[in-house]
Amino acid sequence: MAAGHRSVPDGQGRVGRPVAGGRTIAAAEAAAGPGTRAGSAGPIMRVRSASAPAPGRAVNEDLAFQFGPLVGVLDGATVPEGFDTGCRHGPAWYVRHLAARLGLAAAARPAATLVSSLAAAILAVRADHGGECDLDHPGTPSSTVCLLRSSGDEVDWLVLCDSPLVLDVGGRVDVVVDDRLETAMVDLRRMAATLPEPADDGDRVDRFRRAVGLQRERMNRTHGYWVAAADPDAAYHALTGTVPLRGPGGLRRAALLTDGASCAVEQFGLFDWAGLLDLLTTEGPGALVDRVRAAERDRPDRLRRHKPTDDASAVLCEFDPA
Ligand SMILES: [Zn+2]
Repeated sequence: MAAGHRSVPDGQGRVGRPVAGGRTIAAAEAAAGPGTRAGSAGPIMRVRSASAPAPGRAVNEDLAFQFGPLVGVLDGATVPEGFDTGCRHGPAWYVRHLAARLGLAAAARPAATLVSSLAAAILAVRADHGGECDLDHPGTPSSTVCLLRSSGDEVDWLVLCDSPLVLDVGGRVDVVVDDRLETAMVDLRRMAATLPEPADDGDRVDRFRRAVGLQRERMNRTHGYWVAAADPDAAYHALTGTVPLRGPGGLRRAALLTDGASCAVEQFGLFDWAGLLDLLTTEGPGALVDRVRAAERDRPDRLRRHKPTDDASAVLCEFDPA
């Protein structure tokens, strides 16, 4: 299984997928007001976030949120045009409801693990669909999940699918990447490469349809990839961990990113992970989104293969010394 927690001292991430075109748009950057002191005497957590839809798109299928000590980013899977999902709501609805249900689950059971809260939230969103959607449909709305929760003395985190977490732990930068989706896609691309070249546009469309069908077959399956959708079991396949907030190995900063923002490092190589944390700290999350939009315009050689541009979200959590 290719999922893992890795230290990236040189900041070199995965190499990636193309993007084309795009223009800078103003990111909705918000300082989340005064810090949250979750525990009685723990360090104050200060949170800043930005989330912006892809240029030219009105709907943002990403979502960044904070409910007290719980912060997160979600990245709803875009449905390719013309594909059925069995759901009358869609990805933006799904991420809004999943975020709200995560907040409720964490409020109702503050001592529960993040895995347990995520499972409860997925289950609650099943009910939110209202009974008219086919939740067994392979195209049912889905989302990545990246969560961090401060309990005063330590921080719990959870990463599910392609939304990485960057941790500055006592001056060392660790990156948590769940690359099971990427591994599945590499596998599918290898299979696709063995097929004959499409003869015309009809063949191309047919081939794309089959590729999407194959990807859907791997969602939330052993030896496939795991993502928040309609199956609460996915929560139990998330990467999780806990880091202390005190002492020399204590957490100083954390960045929660959707792949539309992490591509600054992973695709465009604008800076390493430590440089990304420094940019977030000095200029704020909106500046990171602006840098990505500029790179999408100016560095077409680094464009991702399957998306011209993407929704982008970043949350920075900073911890003052106790
Ligand atoms: Zn629905």
